Order: sequence, then structure tokens, then C-alpha cells
Amino acid sequence: MTFQDLNLTTPLVNGLTDMGFDTPTPIQQKAFPIIMSGKDTVGIAQTGTGKTLAYLLPVIRQLRFSEQRQPRVLVLVPTRELVIQVMEEAKKLAKYTSLRIDGVYGGVNINTQSARIYQGVDVLVATPGRLFDLAMRGTLRLKSVQKLVIDEVDEMLNLGFRPQLVSILELLPPKRQNLMFSASLADDVEAIIRDFFTDPQWIDVHFRGMPVDLITHHVYQVPNFATRFNLLSLLLEDDDVFEKVMIFTPSRKIADKIFNKLTPRYGGQMGVIHSNKSQNQRFNTLHDFKTGDIRILISTDLVARGVDIFEVSHVINLGLPEIPSAYLHRTGRTGRVDKRGLAISIISDQELELKNAVEKYINLQMEEMPLPDDLVISKATDWDDDLKPLAGDKSYLKPPKINQGQSAFHQKIAKNQKVNLGGPGKKKRLAAKKRKTKK
Ligand code: ADP
Ligand code: MG
Repeated sequence: MTFQDLNLTTPLVNGLTDMGFDTPTPIQQKAFPIIMSGKDTVGIAQTGTGKTLAYLLPVIRQLRFSEQRQPRVLVLVPTRELVIQVMEEAKKLAKYTSLRIDGVYGGVNINTQSARIYQGVDVLVATPGRLFDLAMRGTLRLKSVQKLVIDEVDEMLNLGFRPQLVSILELLPPKRQNLMFSASLADDVEAIIRDFFTDPQWIDVHFRGMPVDLITHHVYQVPNFATRFNLLSLLLEDDDVFEKVMIFTPSRKIADKIFNKLTPRYGGQMGVIHSNKSQNQRFNTLHDFKTGDIRILISTDLVARGVDIFEVSHVINLGLPEIPSAYLHRTGRTGRVDKRGLAISIISDQELELKNAVEKYINLQMEEMPLPDDLVISKATDWDDDLKPLAGDKSYLKPPKINQGQSAFHQKIAKNQKVNLGGPGKKKRLAAKKRKTKK
């Protein structure tokens, strides 16, 4: 099967050809006719399997030229980096059409974005916080939205974005098509689907939560954090093998500290990214890593989701994430689209429980690696304070405050709106429950 078989228009096929794609991935094949039929859809497929185009293709295929200024398609994603990525993919796909595609996110001047949006947009990609702010200002009128896509919805909910998401859903016209895509699904997502989706079609391309078959999982067990650092530094030495490495750390502070400590040895080859960095720095660092100007990216879970980087050779976890699905998303940054990848976790004795939880979740045993002979086992405890509490980088999605006036406005809107609360019948819900991987 090729894209030619998908009932696409010539401009879209040309866009795909420019992108270098001729064969739809399985999720793209399955999602196309279902989304084209106008049904609400929930699509679950492994990381790096082309979910973005799976929704963009049919959604953009159905858009006709319009002079209307307000967006007809809204794509919600959890991070600013993802706004840019999805927007760029949509722009490439729609290169030979006259569709207007734009993106909005927090951390930059809202007036500039406001003015741009006012010019008119067909497909808007957004983070929930900024979108909500623009809607409250009246710049955006969401009543024009015909199709809503929620990408990585469980991450949005993990990070406390539920109020924003629900507020936005309530501002949308009741008659619309809802689409949801992710590599993993959590319990609270089901509630959103039940409350806001109508008779959703489920597309399951693989057993949910399975790690991509292209990724090999290694684990090193060391006595303490200082030794973890020594091992990391040692591994990175081999730059023929460790060509393009993402390092996930438990906190912003530790990310910075690792960056500083590695600088004498690897300065110029590294960048660090987390939510305390300015938006410009965030974009520049990610850009340098994508283009290969730097080979090592030290980060928090900020970039664990959805971010698509060409040929990441290794994902290194300095400690395991507390939520097992986060492991899946982190390691899913490698092994993308037919490229092999290696995930390495460096853990200490206290993390064996987390390791078991992750292995159970991904349904796979990590391969235990012997420690290299030249590894210096450290007795230093200078990291220990930084590790308590083992806080992740969750602040990057701090929901904007909804003030009194706005929430009153909201209740009114919610009351006046006929939201379909019927949801799927009991049978469907039970079936959905069965499909869920979350234990
Ligand atoms: P996911 O959201 O499933 O993690 P993405 O949508 O980010 O995956 O896609 C992963 C990579 O695969 C991207 O670089 C994308 O451009 C590429 N890609 C998407 N569709 C195809 C295709 N049909 N053929 C080849 N590469 C593709
Ligand atoms: Mg994605």
C-alpha cells in the first residue's frame, strides 16, 4: 500500500513526496478511513510510528479552502516543543495547499501571537494554557472548531492540565469530531473519553505500552549517584558509539549539575534543557541537538514526550522515572521508524522496585550489564541532597491560574452547552477497560 491508495489530493501526495514518504505506517493506514468517516477516534500506537501524520493526513484532507479567520482544526499537545514539531509537520504536509497553519504556546509574548492568529488560521496547534488564555481574551473563538485532536493526552493529565483541558472542551461546539492519539493510556483518560467523546472508534496497532521492538534495554546497577555519574562520563567517551545521546535526569537541578560536571570533559558537545531555561534556550538547544551540532542532550522529562529527533542512538536514564509509562516515552525517543536504538538505565540499589515496575509495564526484562573494569566506584555523597525528594520536572506544565471571573464565565458556558455526556455504553466501556495496559 502507498499513499496513492489513500484517496489523497495531489497537493498532499506532493507534500508527502517532498517529505520523503511513500508508504503509510500501520497506524496511518488504519486511522485514515475511520477519521475520514467523521467518527470520534482514539488511536494508540507505539512511539515513533507516525501518529502525527495519522491524524494530520485525514484531518487536512477534509479541510477545504475558506476565508474564515477562526481555526477549524485544533491540535492540543502538552509542550511548546511539540507545538513547533507538529506545526512544522503540518506545514510540510500542506505545503502545496493554501491552508494556514499556526501554533501558539506559553512563555512568549501573547500579543504577537494574538495579532498573528487574528490574520486567520485553519489549523491551530497549541498547548492548553496559552490556548485557554487566547480564548479568554476573545482573540480565539473556539466555536469554529470542527475537529479537535488531543495528542499525548495522558501526559497533559499527568501534569495537572485537566482543568484547562476540560475548560477548553467546554468552550468547543458540541458538534465536532474528537480525536485522541498516544502511545500509552492512563485511567483518567478514559473519563475524558467517556465525558466528551461520542461512540469513539478504537485503533490499537500494538499491545498498548509495548516498547518498540527496535529498542534494546540495558541496565547498570551501581551503589550511589556519584558512581552513576562516573559511569555516565565513562560511557560518553566513546563518541563513535554514543553518537546522539539523550540523558534523562530526575530534576532540573541535577540536570544542571551534570551539565556543569561534564563540561570540562565534554564541553561544546552538550546542551541542557528543562523548564527553568528560557524559551529561546529551549528551542535553540533542541535545534542544535536535532541538527547534530551537539551530540549530548541532558534533560528532564520535559522532552520525554513525542519529541521526534532523527537517529538518537542512545537514551540514558540516570535513575528510573517514578511513573512506568514515562520510561516508555523517554526510551521511545530512540528506535524511531526502522532505526535501532539502545536504552541504558543506570540505577542504584534503592531503585530495584522501580525497575520491576517498569519491566512489568513494558513486559520485558532489561539486560543486566556488568560494570566496566575502569569504572571508579565513588564514595562521595555530594549528590545525595539533590536527590531528595526525587522530583521530576513537572513544573513545565504549570496550569495558568483561572481567576474568579473566568471560572464564573466558564460555569455559565458549561451550563448553556449541550455536552454529550452519554459516552459509550457499558459494554464498550468494559471492552475499553480490557484493552487498557495500565495495571
Ligand atoms: P509518534 O507520534 O508515533 O511517536 P511521529 O509522528 O513523531 O511518531 O513520527 C515519527 C517519525 O516518523 C517522524 O520523523 C515522521 O516524520 C516519520 N514518519 C511519519 N510517517 C512516516 C511514513 N509514512 N514513512 C516514513 N516516515 C514517517
Ligand atoms: Mg507523537
